[in-house]
Amino acid sequence: MNARRLRRRCAARLRDLRLPVPFDIDALCARIAAGRGRPIHLRAIPGLTGVCGLWIATDAADIIFYEQVTVPPHREHIVLHELSHLLCDHYPASLSLADQARLLLPNLDPALVRRVLGRTGYSCEQEREAELLASLIRQRAHAEATVADRLRTALDGGHG
Ligand SMILES: [Zn+2]
Repeated sequence: MNARRLRRRCAARLRDLRLPVPFDIDALCARIAAGRGRPIHLRAIPGLTGVCGLWIATDAADIIFYEQVTVPPHREHIVLHELSHLLCDHYPASLSLADQARLLLPNLDPALVRRVLGRTGYSCEQEREAELLASLIRQRAHAEATVADRLRTALDGGHG
């Protein structure tokens, strides 16, 4: 697929998406989850070296894992990227029920996540699409925040 088609496809996906204002990544996850009728869980894991994030679909829920030590803007980017894989229907590798159950444990072993990640293997095009959609969502979230700010300033100004 050429870059223009990829861009058009991402723009169409973005149009269907209502972003929370002010933008908040957790609120966006909740909104997407409600639309899909499946919960999305965000889980931080320490020691995910070499890996930023991972989306896992179990029978009951979608789980997005992200490196625990990242600073907030980076966390938002990782989660947006993984959410974009989900929105683009880039199905992650299917997991055995035993692995699904282990991934839901409170004390998750990073080695297990790395092993699972080794099997997900998105194509380069899927990675490009997820990255593009993530940056389009961020751009629109930022633009909407700017408009909301200007409106508030204008309204406040009216009261002298
Ligand atoms: Zn990816």
